[in-house]
Amino acid sequence: MLSSPLQVIVTDFLIVGGGSAGCILAARLAEYGFEILLVSSGSNDTSNVLMRQQSEFDRLESTLFYKHYLPADSSPNLNNRTLDVTVWNTLGGSSVNSGGMERMMANDWNSFFDATGDSSFSYENMSEYYKMVENFTSNRSYGSTNIHGNSGPIKITQARDAIFHDVWKSVADEVNEIFSEDLADAVDHGLSFEPSSFTNGFRSWSGDAYLNPAMAKYPNLHVMTSATAIKFNLNEATKHIDSVLFMSSDGFFNGVARKEYILSAGAFYSPHLLMLSGVGDPDILQKHQLPVKHELRQVGKNLMDNGLLIMQYSAENIPINQSIPVGLVNTHVPTTNLNPDTFFILKMNEKSKRLFVVIFNAAPKSIVGSISLHNANPLTPPKISMDYFEDKKDLQTFVDSIHYTRKVMSTSALNKFGPIIEILPGLKEMDLVTYVKNTLTPSYHFIGTCSMGKNAQNSVVDNNFKVHGIKNLRIVDGSIFPAGFASKTGPCLTIYALAEKAVDLLLKEHL
Ligand SMILES: Cc1cc2nc3c(=O)[nH]c(=O)nc-3n(C[C@H](O)[C@H](O)[C@H](O)COP(=O)(O)OP(=O)(O)OC[C@H]3O[C@@H](n4cnc5c(N)ncnc54)[C@H](O)[C@@H]3O)c2cc1C
Repeated sequence: MLSSPLQVIVTDFLIVGGGSAGCILAARLAEYGFEILLVSSGSNDTSNVLMRQQSEFDRLESTLFYKHYLPADSSPNLNNRTLDVTVWNTLGGSSVNSGGMERMMANDWNSFFDATGDSSFSYENMSEYYKMVENFTSNRSYGSTNIHGNSGPIKITQARDAIFHDVWKSVADEVNEIFSEDLADAVDHGLSFEPSSFTNGFRSWSGDAYLNPAMAKYPNLHVMTSATAIKFNLNEATKHIDSVLFMSSDGFFNGVARKEYILSAGAFYSPHLLMLSGVGDPDILQKHQLPVKHELRQVGKNLMDNGLLIMQYSAENIPINQSIPVGLVNTHVPTTNLNPDTFFILKMNEKSKRLFVVIFNAAPKSIVGSISLHNANPLTPPKISMDYFEDKKDLQTFVDSIHYTRKVMSTSALNKFGPIIEILPGLKEMDLVTYVKNTLTPSYHFIGTCSMGKNAQNSVVDNNFKVHGIKNLRIVDGSIFPAGFASKTGPCLTIYALAEKAVDLLLKEHL
């Protein structure tokens, strides 16, 4: 494969993947004077309006240049549809997203504790990392605003429309649900408003908020974009990574890290790169004539996602302007912090005057699939096997969430603004299962493919983000959520907080 001479670059830390987590790791480690090399396959387009402006998000989504567009195998439980996966291939990676900035709930962190036995994954402790990330504002004051950080790099706004704030509270009363001013507070369920990474229509994301200022400030931070890592060169005898092979338009490079290698290529490409490096399930590696340098059977397994379903209403006069009403509820019994099964978001489309209800499964029970290989060519995208309703309760949750949404949309608090007409699904009871199977899409909250846990039999990394059995390689990105982690909301803000935690661990070891 190599035709040009190999150029060697030596650094302290070599980070593969300048995405949501990778940009934070690079920027924060550079502050301490370490030589950092960030190798990222996407372009550097952080100044492009498509990235920056909320109004351009639809145009950005249809621009293939910034994406890895990955077709998955067909899904038998979804009437054999082929689902497409999108991951952003640019600085900041998939943090160039729809903007939901929820924390994981206090109870969610118990899954990290159960998987690792490490009490530093408590909500109280992780709150400090969330605060380091957040520059939080809300345009209406409420109780305990000091739960958030207000001097971190990521600007987060929780908008509250003057009229709709009280309307949403009345809706909560009518459906017998708790109203929570802030889902990060002690009452972390019920009806509330979503914090967003868009403020006045402009996005704040790790590529811009962390990496750009650090690149301007620290000459020890080196960023190579449009540079694709091909494999880690693992010394089988010492279990030590000796270098990373990567390529760009300038040729092939061997990147050598004096201290550590950090893999942050996301839930699809992190396991892919491990497999290409001979780290993974021997059955998969041998099938593609790859050497088994280090057996780790969980690499690529445990792909998880909430799934996403859309309902659509004609509801012209509902006074939602800037705020993003959300609900984290149980569709059957009064919601507590232990039992939410549905997360939904109301979004008004100003042009069409249609109200969209975006529904997520808040406690998915199914493993959605796995990542493996089509072949051993590093430039062939990973093979994605995905099907949603391995556990049929997940299908029922979406049907139940349609009924729940109908209950919300028929409240007098909403209907006093004029008629509300259901456009989609707009079907009778018996057709709802078909509607779910025909229209469910991935929510793009993919996690779990290099899961964190106690040992090499049930996981890929340990509680310090270190790959089991390899001395100088950590993984820090969405892939490390423990197997079976039922993510209630989007993972982006939590991936930022996990990156801050990983920086803390690295500084403790290397300063
Ligand atoms: C359309 C969309 C909307 C979303 N909306 C939300 C939301 O509203 N709220 C929320 O919380 N979450 C949302 N998510 C999910 C969330 O954005 C992701 O879970 C998160 O950003 C993933 O972060 P990561 O660090 O794991 O990976 P990424 O941010 O994807 O970073 C991976 C990086 O690695 C690079 N890379 C990959 N392979 C290589 C290689 N071989 N060599 C070098 N570099 C490589 C990529 O270019 C990329 O920059 C959304 C995701 C998408 C796609």
